[in-house]
Amino acid sequence: MPTDSYVYIAVRSATVLLALAAIAFGAVRAVNTRADMMRRLLRLVGAVMLLAIAWLALRDVLDTIARGAAPETTADDWSWRVIDVLVPLFFLLLIEGWRQRDALELRLAAQSETDPLTGLPNRRGFTQRAVAALQAARRQGEPCAVVAFDLDRFKAINDGHGHAAGDVVLRGVGAAIRASVRGSDVSGRMGGEEFALLLPGDDIADAVSVAERLRALVRATVAHPAGGEVAVTLSAGVAVVGAGATDAALDAALAAADRALYDAKQQGRDRILVAA
Ligand code: GH3
Ligand code: MG
Ligand code: MG
Repeated sequence: MPTDSYVYIAVRSATVLLALAAIAFGAVRAVNTRADMMRRLLRLVGAVMLLAIAWLALRDVLDTIARGAAPETTADDWSWRVIDVLVPLFFLLLIEGWRQRDALELRLAAQSETDPLTGLPNRRGFTQRAVAALQAARRQGEPCAVVAFDLDRFKAINDGHGHAAGDVVLRGVGAAIRASVRGSDVSGRMGGEEFALLLPGDDIADAVSVAERLRALVRATVAHPAGGEVAVTLSAGVAVVGAGATDAALDAALAAADRALYDAKQQGRDRILVAA
């Protein structure tokens, strides 16, 4: 067989493989994605088109092998040249489209788990991270503790100095939390002026000292809009996470910490209590 036949076979075979690879990738994506009806239909049409191209190219390859020579130049050549450019281009565009969509999905997922004011995880982000951290701690046989805290008389800050001043305080508290927890700890803004920590590896005594450190840091670094001697204070409840590493175990510990937090408010605020 002359050299140009081998070149012809190689080029046509590449077209077959690229078209089939694009169909296979498309099929995997079609199964894995929550695409709407229109997008699924477009994928189906694209797959049928690529399948037709793959079939034409394969027939040409088999023909060339059977005849022992590349086909004569015909008007068909132009359509083949267009297809040779289109198939790899389609493949590249497909991959780039998926890359962009994956990046967008990641960005949206991160946004849906983050509180924009403080940059801390929101309740959803906290719960997801906390359960994962809880599972890792359980595998290593470590204890875990939670802290629930709530700013004292925060409504008075909003009422007396405006919502924007309240937001500045919340941002300051967020920064203090980030500064006082370890990388393995999980923190979150659970809503309003309520925050929570999950401390893997910590028992009650460790967790109380983390909470005390945070209380001191907020007092020292977050300015009260009233200025002067007035401090931003917080109350907290601390509880151990019982057996298990599920949402339910986490919820039960947070509920116990919340009850202790309520008692701390009742006893005059600006203090940390351990759950009974
Ligand atoms: P306590 O010491 O008993 O906790 O009293 P408190 O005034 O802190 O508690 P309360 O739950 O009555 O007030 C919480 C306030 O937090 C009410 C709400 O307007 C305010 N708040 C909730 N979310 C935000 C926010 O994103 N920004 C601001 N500035 N205020 C918020
Ligand atoms: Mg409060
Ligand atoms: Mg509150």
